[in-house]
Amino acid sequence: MGIIKLLDDLTTNQIAAGEVVERPSSVVKELCENSLDANSTNVYTEIKNGGITSISVTDNGCGMDSEDIKKAFLRHSTSKINNVSDFETLTSMGFRGEALASIAAVSRINIKSRRPGEENGYFLKLEAGKIADEGCIGCSTGTKIEVENLFFNTPARYKFLKKDYTEASYISDIIERFVMARPDVSFYLTNNSKEVIHSPGNNDLKSAVFSVYGKKITDELLEVSYKNENIKIYGFAGTPTIARNNRNHQSVFVNNRYVKSPVVVKAVEDAYKTLLMKGKFPFCVIKIEISPSLVDVNVHPRKIQVKFGDESSIYRNVYHALKNAVDKHVNKKSVEYSDYDKIPENEQASKKIEQRPADEYDRTQYREEKALEKEYIEPEQTRFKTDDSNAKGNDYEERDNSNTITEEISTDPEIISEDMKYLGSLFNTYLLFEKDEKLIIIDQHAAHERILFEKLLKISSNDKIVSQSLISPEIAELTTNEMLLFKDKRDIFEKLGFECEEFADKSVIIRAIPLGDDSINPDRAFKAALDSLADKNSDDSEIIRETLYSIACKAAVKAHDKLQPPEIKSLLEEMAKTSRSSYCPHGRPCTKIIEKKEIEKWFKRIIS
Ligand code: ADP
Ligand code: MG
Repeated sequence: MGIIKLLDDLTTNQIAAGEVVERPSSVVKELCENSLDANSTNVYTEIKNGGITSISVTDNGCGMDSEDIKKAFLRHSTSKINNVSDFETLTSMGFRGEALASIAAVSRINIKSRRPGEENGYFLKLEAGKIADEGCIGCSTGTKIEVENLFFNTPARYKFLKKDYTEASYISDIIERFVMARPDVSFYLTNNSKEVIHSPGNNDLKSAVFSVYGKKITDELLEVSYKNENIKIYGFAGTPTIARNNRNHQSVFVNNRYVKSPVVVKAVEDAYKTLLMKGKFPFCVIKIEISPSLVDVNVHPRKIQVKFGDESSIYRNVYHALKNAVDKHVNKKSVEYSDYDKIPENEQASKKIEQRPADEYDRTQYREEKALEKEYIEPEQTRFKTDDSNAKGNDYEERDNSNTITEEISTDPEIISEDMKYLGSLFNTYLLFEKDEKLIIIDQHAAHERILFEKLLKISSNDKIVSQSLISPEIAELTTNEMLLFKDKRDIFEKLGFECEEFADKSVIIRAIPLGDDSINPDRAFKAALDSLADKNSDDSEIIRETLYSIACKAAVKAHDKLQPPEIKSLLEEMAKTSRSSYCPHGRPCTKIIEKKEIEKWFKRIIS
């Protein structure tokens, strides 16, 4: 006699529950999705002991009549699709018709529901999927489902549940995502009768984000808004300041469904390239609206993944949407230097050196230009190009060195700029300026680091690295390991614009370095490159970028370096010309602005 048999309903539903109902938060997700599909505007979730003891979801949606309420618990019963062709136009959260059947198979359920316009509601009690009681009941319109003793009949599953507070945190995560997916719906969550989340449901995404993350994060949001004939992308990206060490603060929604999408995340993160340190991840709430026919939502039992028809187009669109938002913010100049007209013609010529595209360079031409530039910088040894021919600048050089910068400047603040009044340096690290009723604080190291990094990046784009030949070659002494690393990664050094070769057992002769500016010390730059090459996990382009970071970092003026007025002036000029100058390459802010109003509040001159 054959041994193959058909499994009974309870067993098949319990098997399905293995996929759909992983833990209490999956129950919450399915029940809330049903409430949304029922057009509810209020969804109220109560959990006890992290949802393990009980979960109840109450909504004010379309409800079910006595016939539908029973059908709802049968496997593959749904009101949302008739056949697979409906996927082309699907807008509901659910469509598989298996959530209620699966949840019922592993718990005890009480449900009551009333359709608007009907006199009575109807209730059911189910135990392991079997109806234990049913009948008419008085209740408000909408549906209330209580799920008790989850996994009471599947001990293996129960065993895998985590501590109450961990399960509760998974649930609040799920509700928070709903809050942002549907700002037009008010969500309410209590755990052991304590309110955890309450969203306004006022159809404003920023309010929704506020109710999830609070004021600090909401103050650091950049608006994303992008549209073409196939796609709409909107939401918020975080400033680099609120980047995190993990991706928990990244939420992607496709047609209001929260999804995990590696391609979208990659596009978002790429838009922040050079703004965040390795291991830092940007904050984002990204909403994508796309025709349902261009995305497959039926690729995962819990519907948390989707498959886009054209992934590369999604990548491009998201990247542009985010890049626009991020660039607009980081290129917003906190420092405007408007003194260009006063700079003598010859110096203006030297400024063009920086502006010319990298591929127009040849070395001889570069050396000539650099020599020309030097004429106007000497004799003062400065770390930045300066406008020394300015009479006031020359005045400074003749003065006694013991004078502090503050004294110098305070007698004639115009020396720095027409509209940025230099006040002095704090801890020899932060430069203080007054401008338009604002106090502007610049972190000298961070600002210079960004300036150098952008220069290096510009010349290394499109693999067209430009070198800067050294007048006299330098010898770098290496350890045995560093020497091995150098031999192994020699091609990357070439790509970076270094011209160097083994000189002795443990030394390398450096003849040229990446073209940046005079502040780059060849030996330090070479060592910085070696240090970042020691990280073997990165790919070539990542290594090059990391190396440029290190070179910029090592060459930049340090905190505690005392800057001279021409250097400060030049720093401002360079900042005004540099893109992304409000953040250093590691994502730390270079500038902090304090409004006069805020200072007046400190001293209680005004009350907010
Ligand atoms: P699906 O959501 O995939 O259709 P479910 O098992 O989650 O499958 O639900 C089955 C059906 O029960 C739904 O299609 C819907 O018609 C009905 N239903 C479930 N929950 C609700 C609710 N909160 N309000 C109104 N109808 C509901
Ligand atoms: Mg459903």
